[in-house]
Amino acid sequence: MPMYQKLRIYIIGAVLLTLFFSGTTTRNAVPPEDAPPNIIIILVDDAGYADFGFMGSQDLQTPNLDKLASQAIKFTDAHVTASVCSPSRAGLLTGKYQQRFGYECNEGDGYPGMDTNQLLLPKILQDNGYATAAFGKWHLGYEPSQHPLKRGFQYYYGFLSGGRSYFYQPEKDDRKGSKNALLENYQQVSFDGYLTDVLAEKAVDYIRKNKKHPFFMYWAPNAVHTPMEASKDDLEKFADHPRKKLAAMTYSLDRAVGNIVDELKQQGLFDNTLIFFLSDNGGAHNNQSSNLPLKGFKGNKYEAGHRVPFLVSWPKSLKSNAVFNGLTSSLDIFATSLEAAGVTNRSAIGLDGISLISYLKNKTNQHPHQQLVWRKDKAAAIRSGKYKLIKVQGAGDRLYDLSKDPGETNDLVAKKPAVYSRLKRQFDLWEKDKISPLWTEGATWDTITLMIHDDLMHNRKVRVRNPEELKEFQLKK
Ligand code: CA
Repeated sequence: MPMYQKLRIYIIGAVLLTLFFSGTTTRNAVPPEDAPPNIIIILVDDAGYADFGFMGSQDLQTPNLDKLASQAIKFTDAHVTASVCSPSRAGLLTGKYQQRFGYECNEGDGYPGMDTNQLLLPKILQDNGYATAAFGKWHLGYEPSQHPLKRGFQYYYGFLSGGRSYFYQPEKDDRKGSKNALLENYQQVSFDGYLTDVLAEKAVDYIRKNKKHPFFMYWAPNAVHTPMEASKDDLEKFADHPRKKLAAMTYSLDRAVGNIVDELKQQGLFDNTLIFFLSDNGGAHNNQSSNLPLKGFKGNKYEAGHRVPFLVSWPKSLKSNAVFNGLTSSLDIFATSLEAAGVTNRSAIGLDGISLISYLKNKTNQHPHQQLVWRKDKAAAIRSGKYKLIKVQGAGDRLYDLSKDPGETNDLVAKKPAVYSRLKRQFDLWEKDKISPLWTEGATWDTITLMIHDDLMHNRKVRVRNPEELKEFQLKK
């Protein structure tokens, strides 16, 4: 056979093979090497620092999250900007300290909620060619102008409030017009089964429908926030578990994340999807969670309030199965996402967070932040290097060296006066361009928060954690 005929057969064969393989892959158009990644934020609710296998849990089962962690970078010193749900979400989605726009206390019906002049991450990604979707808990305002679809998301399946039942309740959470009701875009909808599973099914549908172009998904289930409700099957699996309800809820959360990740893998999208996994604040006192070895819990300025499990996965560009020890904030998710998406001119937005990408690629021993600050009305804290200052009006100040005292028990205010003064100065400087909170949570929570901090500062057992316990305490006096 002449050479040119052989060559023709090779070429035809190669073309046929290419056609065959492109026909069997699920993505019709093979993306170019520099295709922007899909971006997914998995923001879970009130999860304990120690309550995932990849965080060392011995009694809760999270096989899918552990697998994701093995394909991700695990952070050991990552923090959200608030120790309660709503302001933490406000910081994450704006990339700015929420105290810049007065959003430092928890939000509820009747509070102003998110300032609509603030630019949210989904809006910028949408303007840069991303399809955008939010699932689950919103908790950033109830006004029509604050609806996710008005804030940069093109699809929404979730509820506007801070918490609800995991089951459909036509007479309660799902009665007509309830703030807790499930919405698909603007439409109130019913659902079958367990909500965490449903939120994952909707996310899987979304991935299938949007696999041909880059998408941004904010997946924020209410798990494992109260009410402590799990499906019958999951409860049966943990029938003898000392933390039965939390174990069942965590297991279903893990299954849901597994379903989303499996779909990405099936569609050939996993390697070029940037996934952030974190909790919006520390484990709460009322959901059986464990934050060990950290001190405190949701709602206070000790580490368990704001240091959270945090994973970043992007196999195409970042390491797998690695650990990052640098001081990191949930504020960084915004800038990191924009850099991954190829959005330049980020400095114009005035972000407080920075992109983590160069840190994760090259500067693995460095700290993205020299300091982080927390403030919720009268309770504040600042972290600077290894030191942390907690200052609560009415309770006093405490200084800790986290490198020697991660459990925050040995106060150094008297022993390290220069450090104490420096951190106070840094905090005052930070406050200069922030505004007062636009709302607070009222006298009852003021008293509770003060008492909790006072007990923790004195290394005592916390006496009162909620309004019911406060009432009981006051009756006894
Ligand atoms: Ca929360």
